Amino acid sequence: MERLWKYAGRHRRQILWGIAMLLLTNICTQTLPLIMRAAIDGIEFGETTDYLRAIATALVLVAVASAVFRTLSRKHLFYAARDVEMDLRSDYYRHLTSLDGGYFDTTPSGELMSRATNDLPQVRLYLGPGLLNAVNTTVAYVTTIPLMLMISPKLTFVILAVYPPSLWLLQRLGKQLFNRTKVQQKEMGRIAAYVQESLAGSHVIRSFGIESERQEQFNDLCVANYDASIQLAISRSFMWRLVISLSTLSIFIAVFVGAMEIIAGRLTIGDVVAMVEYMGILAWPTFALGWVLSMRERGRASMERINEILDRVSNISEGNEELGEETPSIEVDGLHIGYGDSPVLEDVQFSVPAGHTLGIVGEIGSGKTTLVKTLMRLLPVRSEMVKIGGRDITSISLRSLRSQFGYVAQESILFSKPLSQNIAFGEPEAGLDKVVDSAEKASLDPGDPSLPDGLETLVGERGITLSGGQKQRSSIARALLISPSILVLDDALSAVDSETEERIIDELRRLREGKTTVIVAHRVSAVSHADQILVLGERGIIESGTHETLVASKGAYAQLANRQALQEGLL
Ligand code: ADP
Repeated sequence: MERLWKYAGRHRRQILWGIAMLLLTNICTQTLPLIMRAAIDGIEFGETTDYLRAIATALVLVAVASAVFRTLSRKHLFYAARDVEMDLRSDYYRHLTSLDGGYFDTTPSGELMSRATNDLPQVRLYLGPGLLNAVNTTVAYVTTIPLMLMISPKLTFVILAVYPPSLWLLQRLGKQLFNRTKVQQKEMGRIAAYVQESLAGSHVIRSFGIESERQEQFNDLCVANYDASIQLAISRSFMWRLVISLSTLSIFIAVFVGAMEIIAGRLTIGDVVAMVEYMGILAWPTFALGWVLSMRERGRASMERINEILDRVSNISEGNEELGEETPSIEVDGLHIGYGDSPVLEDVQFSVPAGHTLGIVGEIGSGKTTLVKTLMRLLPVRSEMVKIGGRDITSISLRSLRSQFGYVAQESILFSKPLSQNIAFGEPEAGLDKVVDSAEKASLDPGDPSLPDGLETLVGERGITLSGGQKQRSSIARALLISPSILVLDDALSAVDSETEERIIDELRRLREGKTTVIVAHRVSAVSHADQILVLGERGIIESGTHETLVASKGAYAQLANRQALQEGLL
């Protein structure tokens, strides 16, 4: 909750205004029973019409003022709560984007979505209506009780005697409510994660014909959510009942004991009416107390879920050095890297002078992607293992380091935007000429009949679906457009035919003169022109050299090259 108050502190003016308006609203509300008492006792004791008219006017004026202050208090407090929600959401997004990639590999994205869509509004409700009612309740009690004491201390004590045990019970129920809320919110998160995964993998689900199994699993999740929601509703309604009973009991006592006091001549009818009115004023805040507590517990549970993410620090630390403009060299020395306790690469050593082309081949799972991700610090790496431009990679600012790279990942991701904007993703202000030029260099034909609006065709989730090869070429065009110092193609030619691959490779050789290119590939043909080729095997480099030296040494690379030459001959 500390974090929430820090956020609320940024909008304290707004909140203080809201609280000030609430105080004024309460002053008006508290005055009304006194005016009522004066009216009733006035009638009973035969006051003049002018006196009664003045009282009626005062009643109307106070009621209008109360309505105005009430509206303003809500405006200020609800706006502040919306502002806090917006700030939190924006920071939540920023924080997510700063976390290391490994985090997203292990956390379902539906879970993360659920926190932003279900939990953040709960926090807002706690801060807006929750705070409003908490202040209202406090003010109502603090101001009403002295006024009640002024009328009849005896009646006041009798009425309030039921409160302490009830508040104790409410507090206990609050804890139960908090736990049940957390369970329910977790179930909601699981449903969101399941739906998100099912939508993303809908083709796979259909192709395996397992819709009904998935439906059953989903139903199980729904049942778990249903049970958790029912448990929560029981807790909540029990709390409500308790609060309502408390308030009804107090009014009953007020009327009963009040009547005795009137009979005994110690109180007037006006006194008892005012007393019952005050009970009425206390009724809603007491009523709202249950609601505030439930809101507080929900807000607290939600904030805890959001904190879990916000407190998570990226295990990739920031550096503070900046790289210069010139193409940097790459030096890897004694690199050990893996995931958790499983090593993937051990004692890797190689260097790439600025402007060279590096080819990386190896079996699936040999660590090719891991290696290139390490160069960009998409994975946590210990210091002194990798140097870029002669500087330890961990001391370079992430922004400066990554701005050197153009990365074409194995899996092409296109956003729901026109193709041209996808290509200009790294440089949104690039002109159309540059976009067309990059597309052509990546062998992507804007006139292709499958692109009805050429480069303006909407692609991605809300647009047309491109073929695997088109997606790869679009991703290559996106990387080429920014003309990076180091271009990394991570198996980025796997979905194009060998003719297109050859065209793209030729284009790259021409374009990338003086700049560094790293090509991860399955096909030997994609790396054969490289200045240096690394062959990865179990836990590291098993061979390295140029195409010619590797073929001559008749090792794993030569075997791969032979196998592929045979396959091509058969085709
Ligand atoms: P390649 O690119 O050569 O196919 P990768 O670098 O993708 O290989 O993977 C190397 C090994 O690391 C594989 O055994 C893979 O299962 C494992 N691996 C890759 N990514 C992760 C991850 N995020 N968490 C745990 N293990 C991973």
